[in-house]
Amino acid sequence: MSIARNLTTIRDTIDTIAIRCGRAPASVSLVAVSKRFPVEVILEAYRAGQRCFGENYVQEAAAKKTDVDGIVDLHLIGHLQSNKVKEAAEIFSMIQTIDRLKVARTLNRYLREKGKKLDVLMQVNIAGDTNKSGVSPDQAIPLAEQLHQFDHLCFKGLMTIPPYSQEPEDGRIHFSGLRKLADTINHRGLFAAADRVELSMGMSHDYHIAIEEGATIVRVGSAIFGQRPQNLR
Ligand SMILES: *Cc1c(COP(=O)(O)O)cnc(C)c1O
Repeated sequence: MSIARNLTTIRDTIDTIAIRCGRAPASVSLVAVSKRFPVEVILEAYRAGQRCFGENYVQEAAAKKTDVDGIVDLHLIGHLQSNKVKEAAEIFSMIQTIDRLKVARTLNRYLREKGKKLDVLMQVNIAGDTNKSGVSPDQAIPLAEQLHQFDHLCFKGLMTIPPYSQEPEDGRIHFSGLRKLADTINHRGLFAAADRVELSMGMSHDYHIAIEEGATIVRVGSAIFGQRPQNLR
């Protein structure tokens, strides 16, 4: 298995789908999800030209960061606990999983102390799945109004993980639902940049559907790195 070859295949697929949909290929960015893999796979992907990586756990990302600091961007795509907010603010260039006011407030306060800003996405539990993280669709607009007001958060868009299905087409309704929700939020002027709203949606098995429905960020792990080890160590 070659990481470089997989990356080329996926990037080509992304570009092809984007063009077929009348979108610019550069409007879709690829986050390579390296969770539970050793840092060596990040370095291998880096040598193949990949610059942005997704990690789910703050602790694990902190350990890897020392080896890749300054050469790659890390996005947090896993649940963020309140007690990890400060550490996360130091490690990640984007936090994709803001789903509670408390975490947003703590993060904003910390960033103010540090005198910096951070890109964030709001995670939406678009299917209303009871056991998933993410704000419920009916709470999304109220939370967006609050995120908009935090002056050290650069609130750029939405992220979702639809319920897993064998059939990639099943994700389509959820992806289009997220896009519609983002349109509503954007019409209210709540995103940092109205002309560049981020939609982080689509993984290895359904990123092609997500791009058709407007994804600007796809998060792909196993299709690049192979099957994940159960535990890192
Ligand atoms: C693990 C993970 C991915 C990548 O999943 P693959 O199926 O390996 O592509 C994407 N997004 C999130 C939030 C994840 O936890």
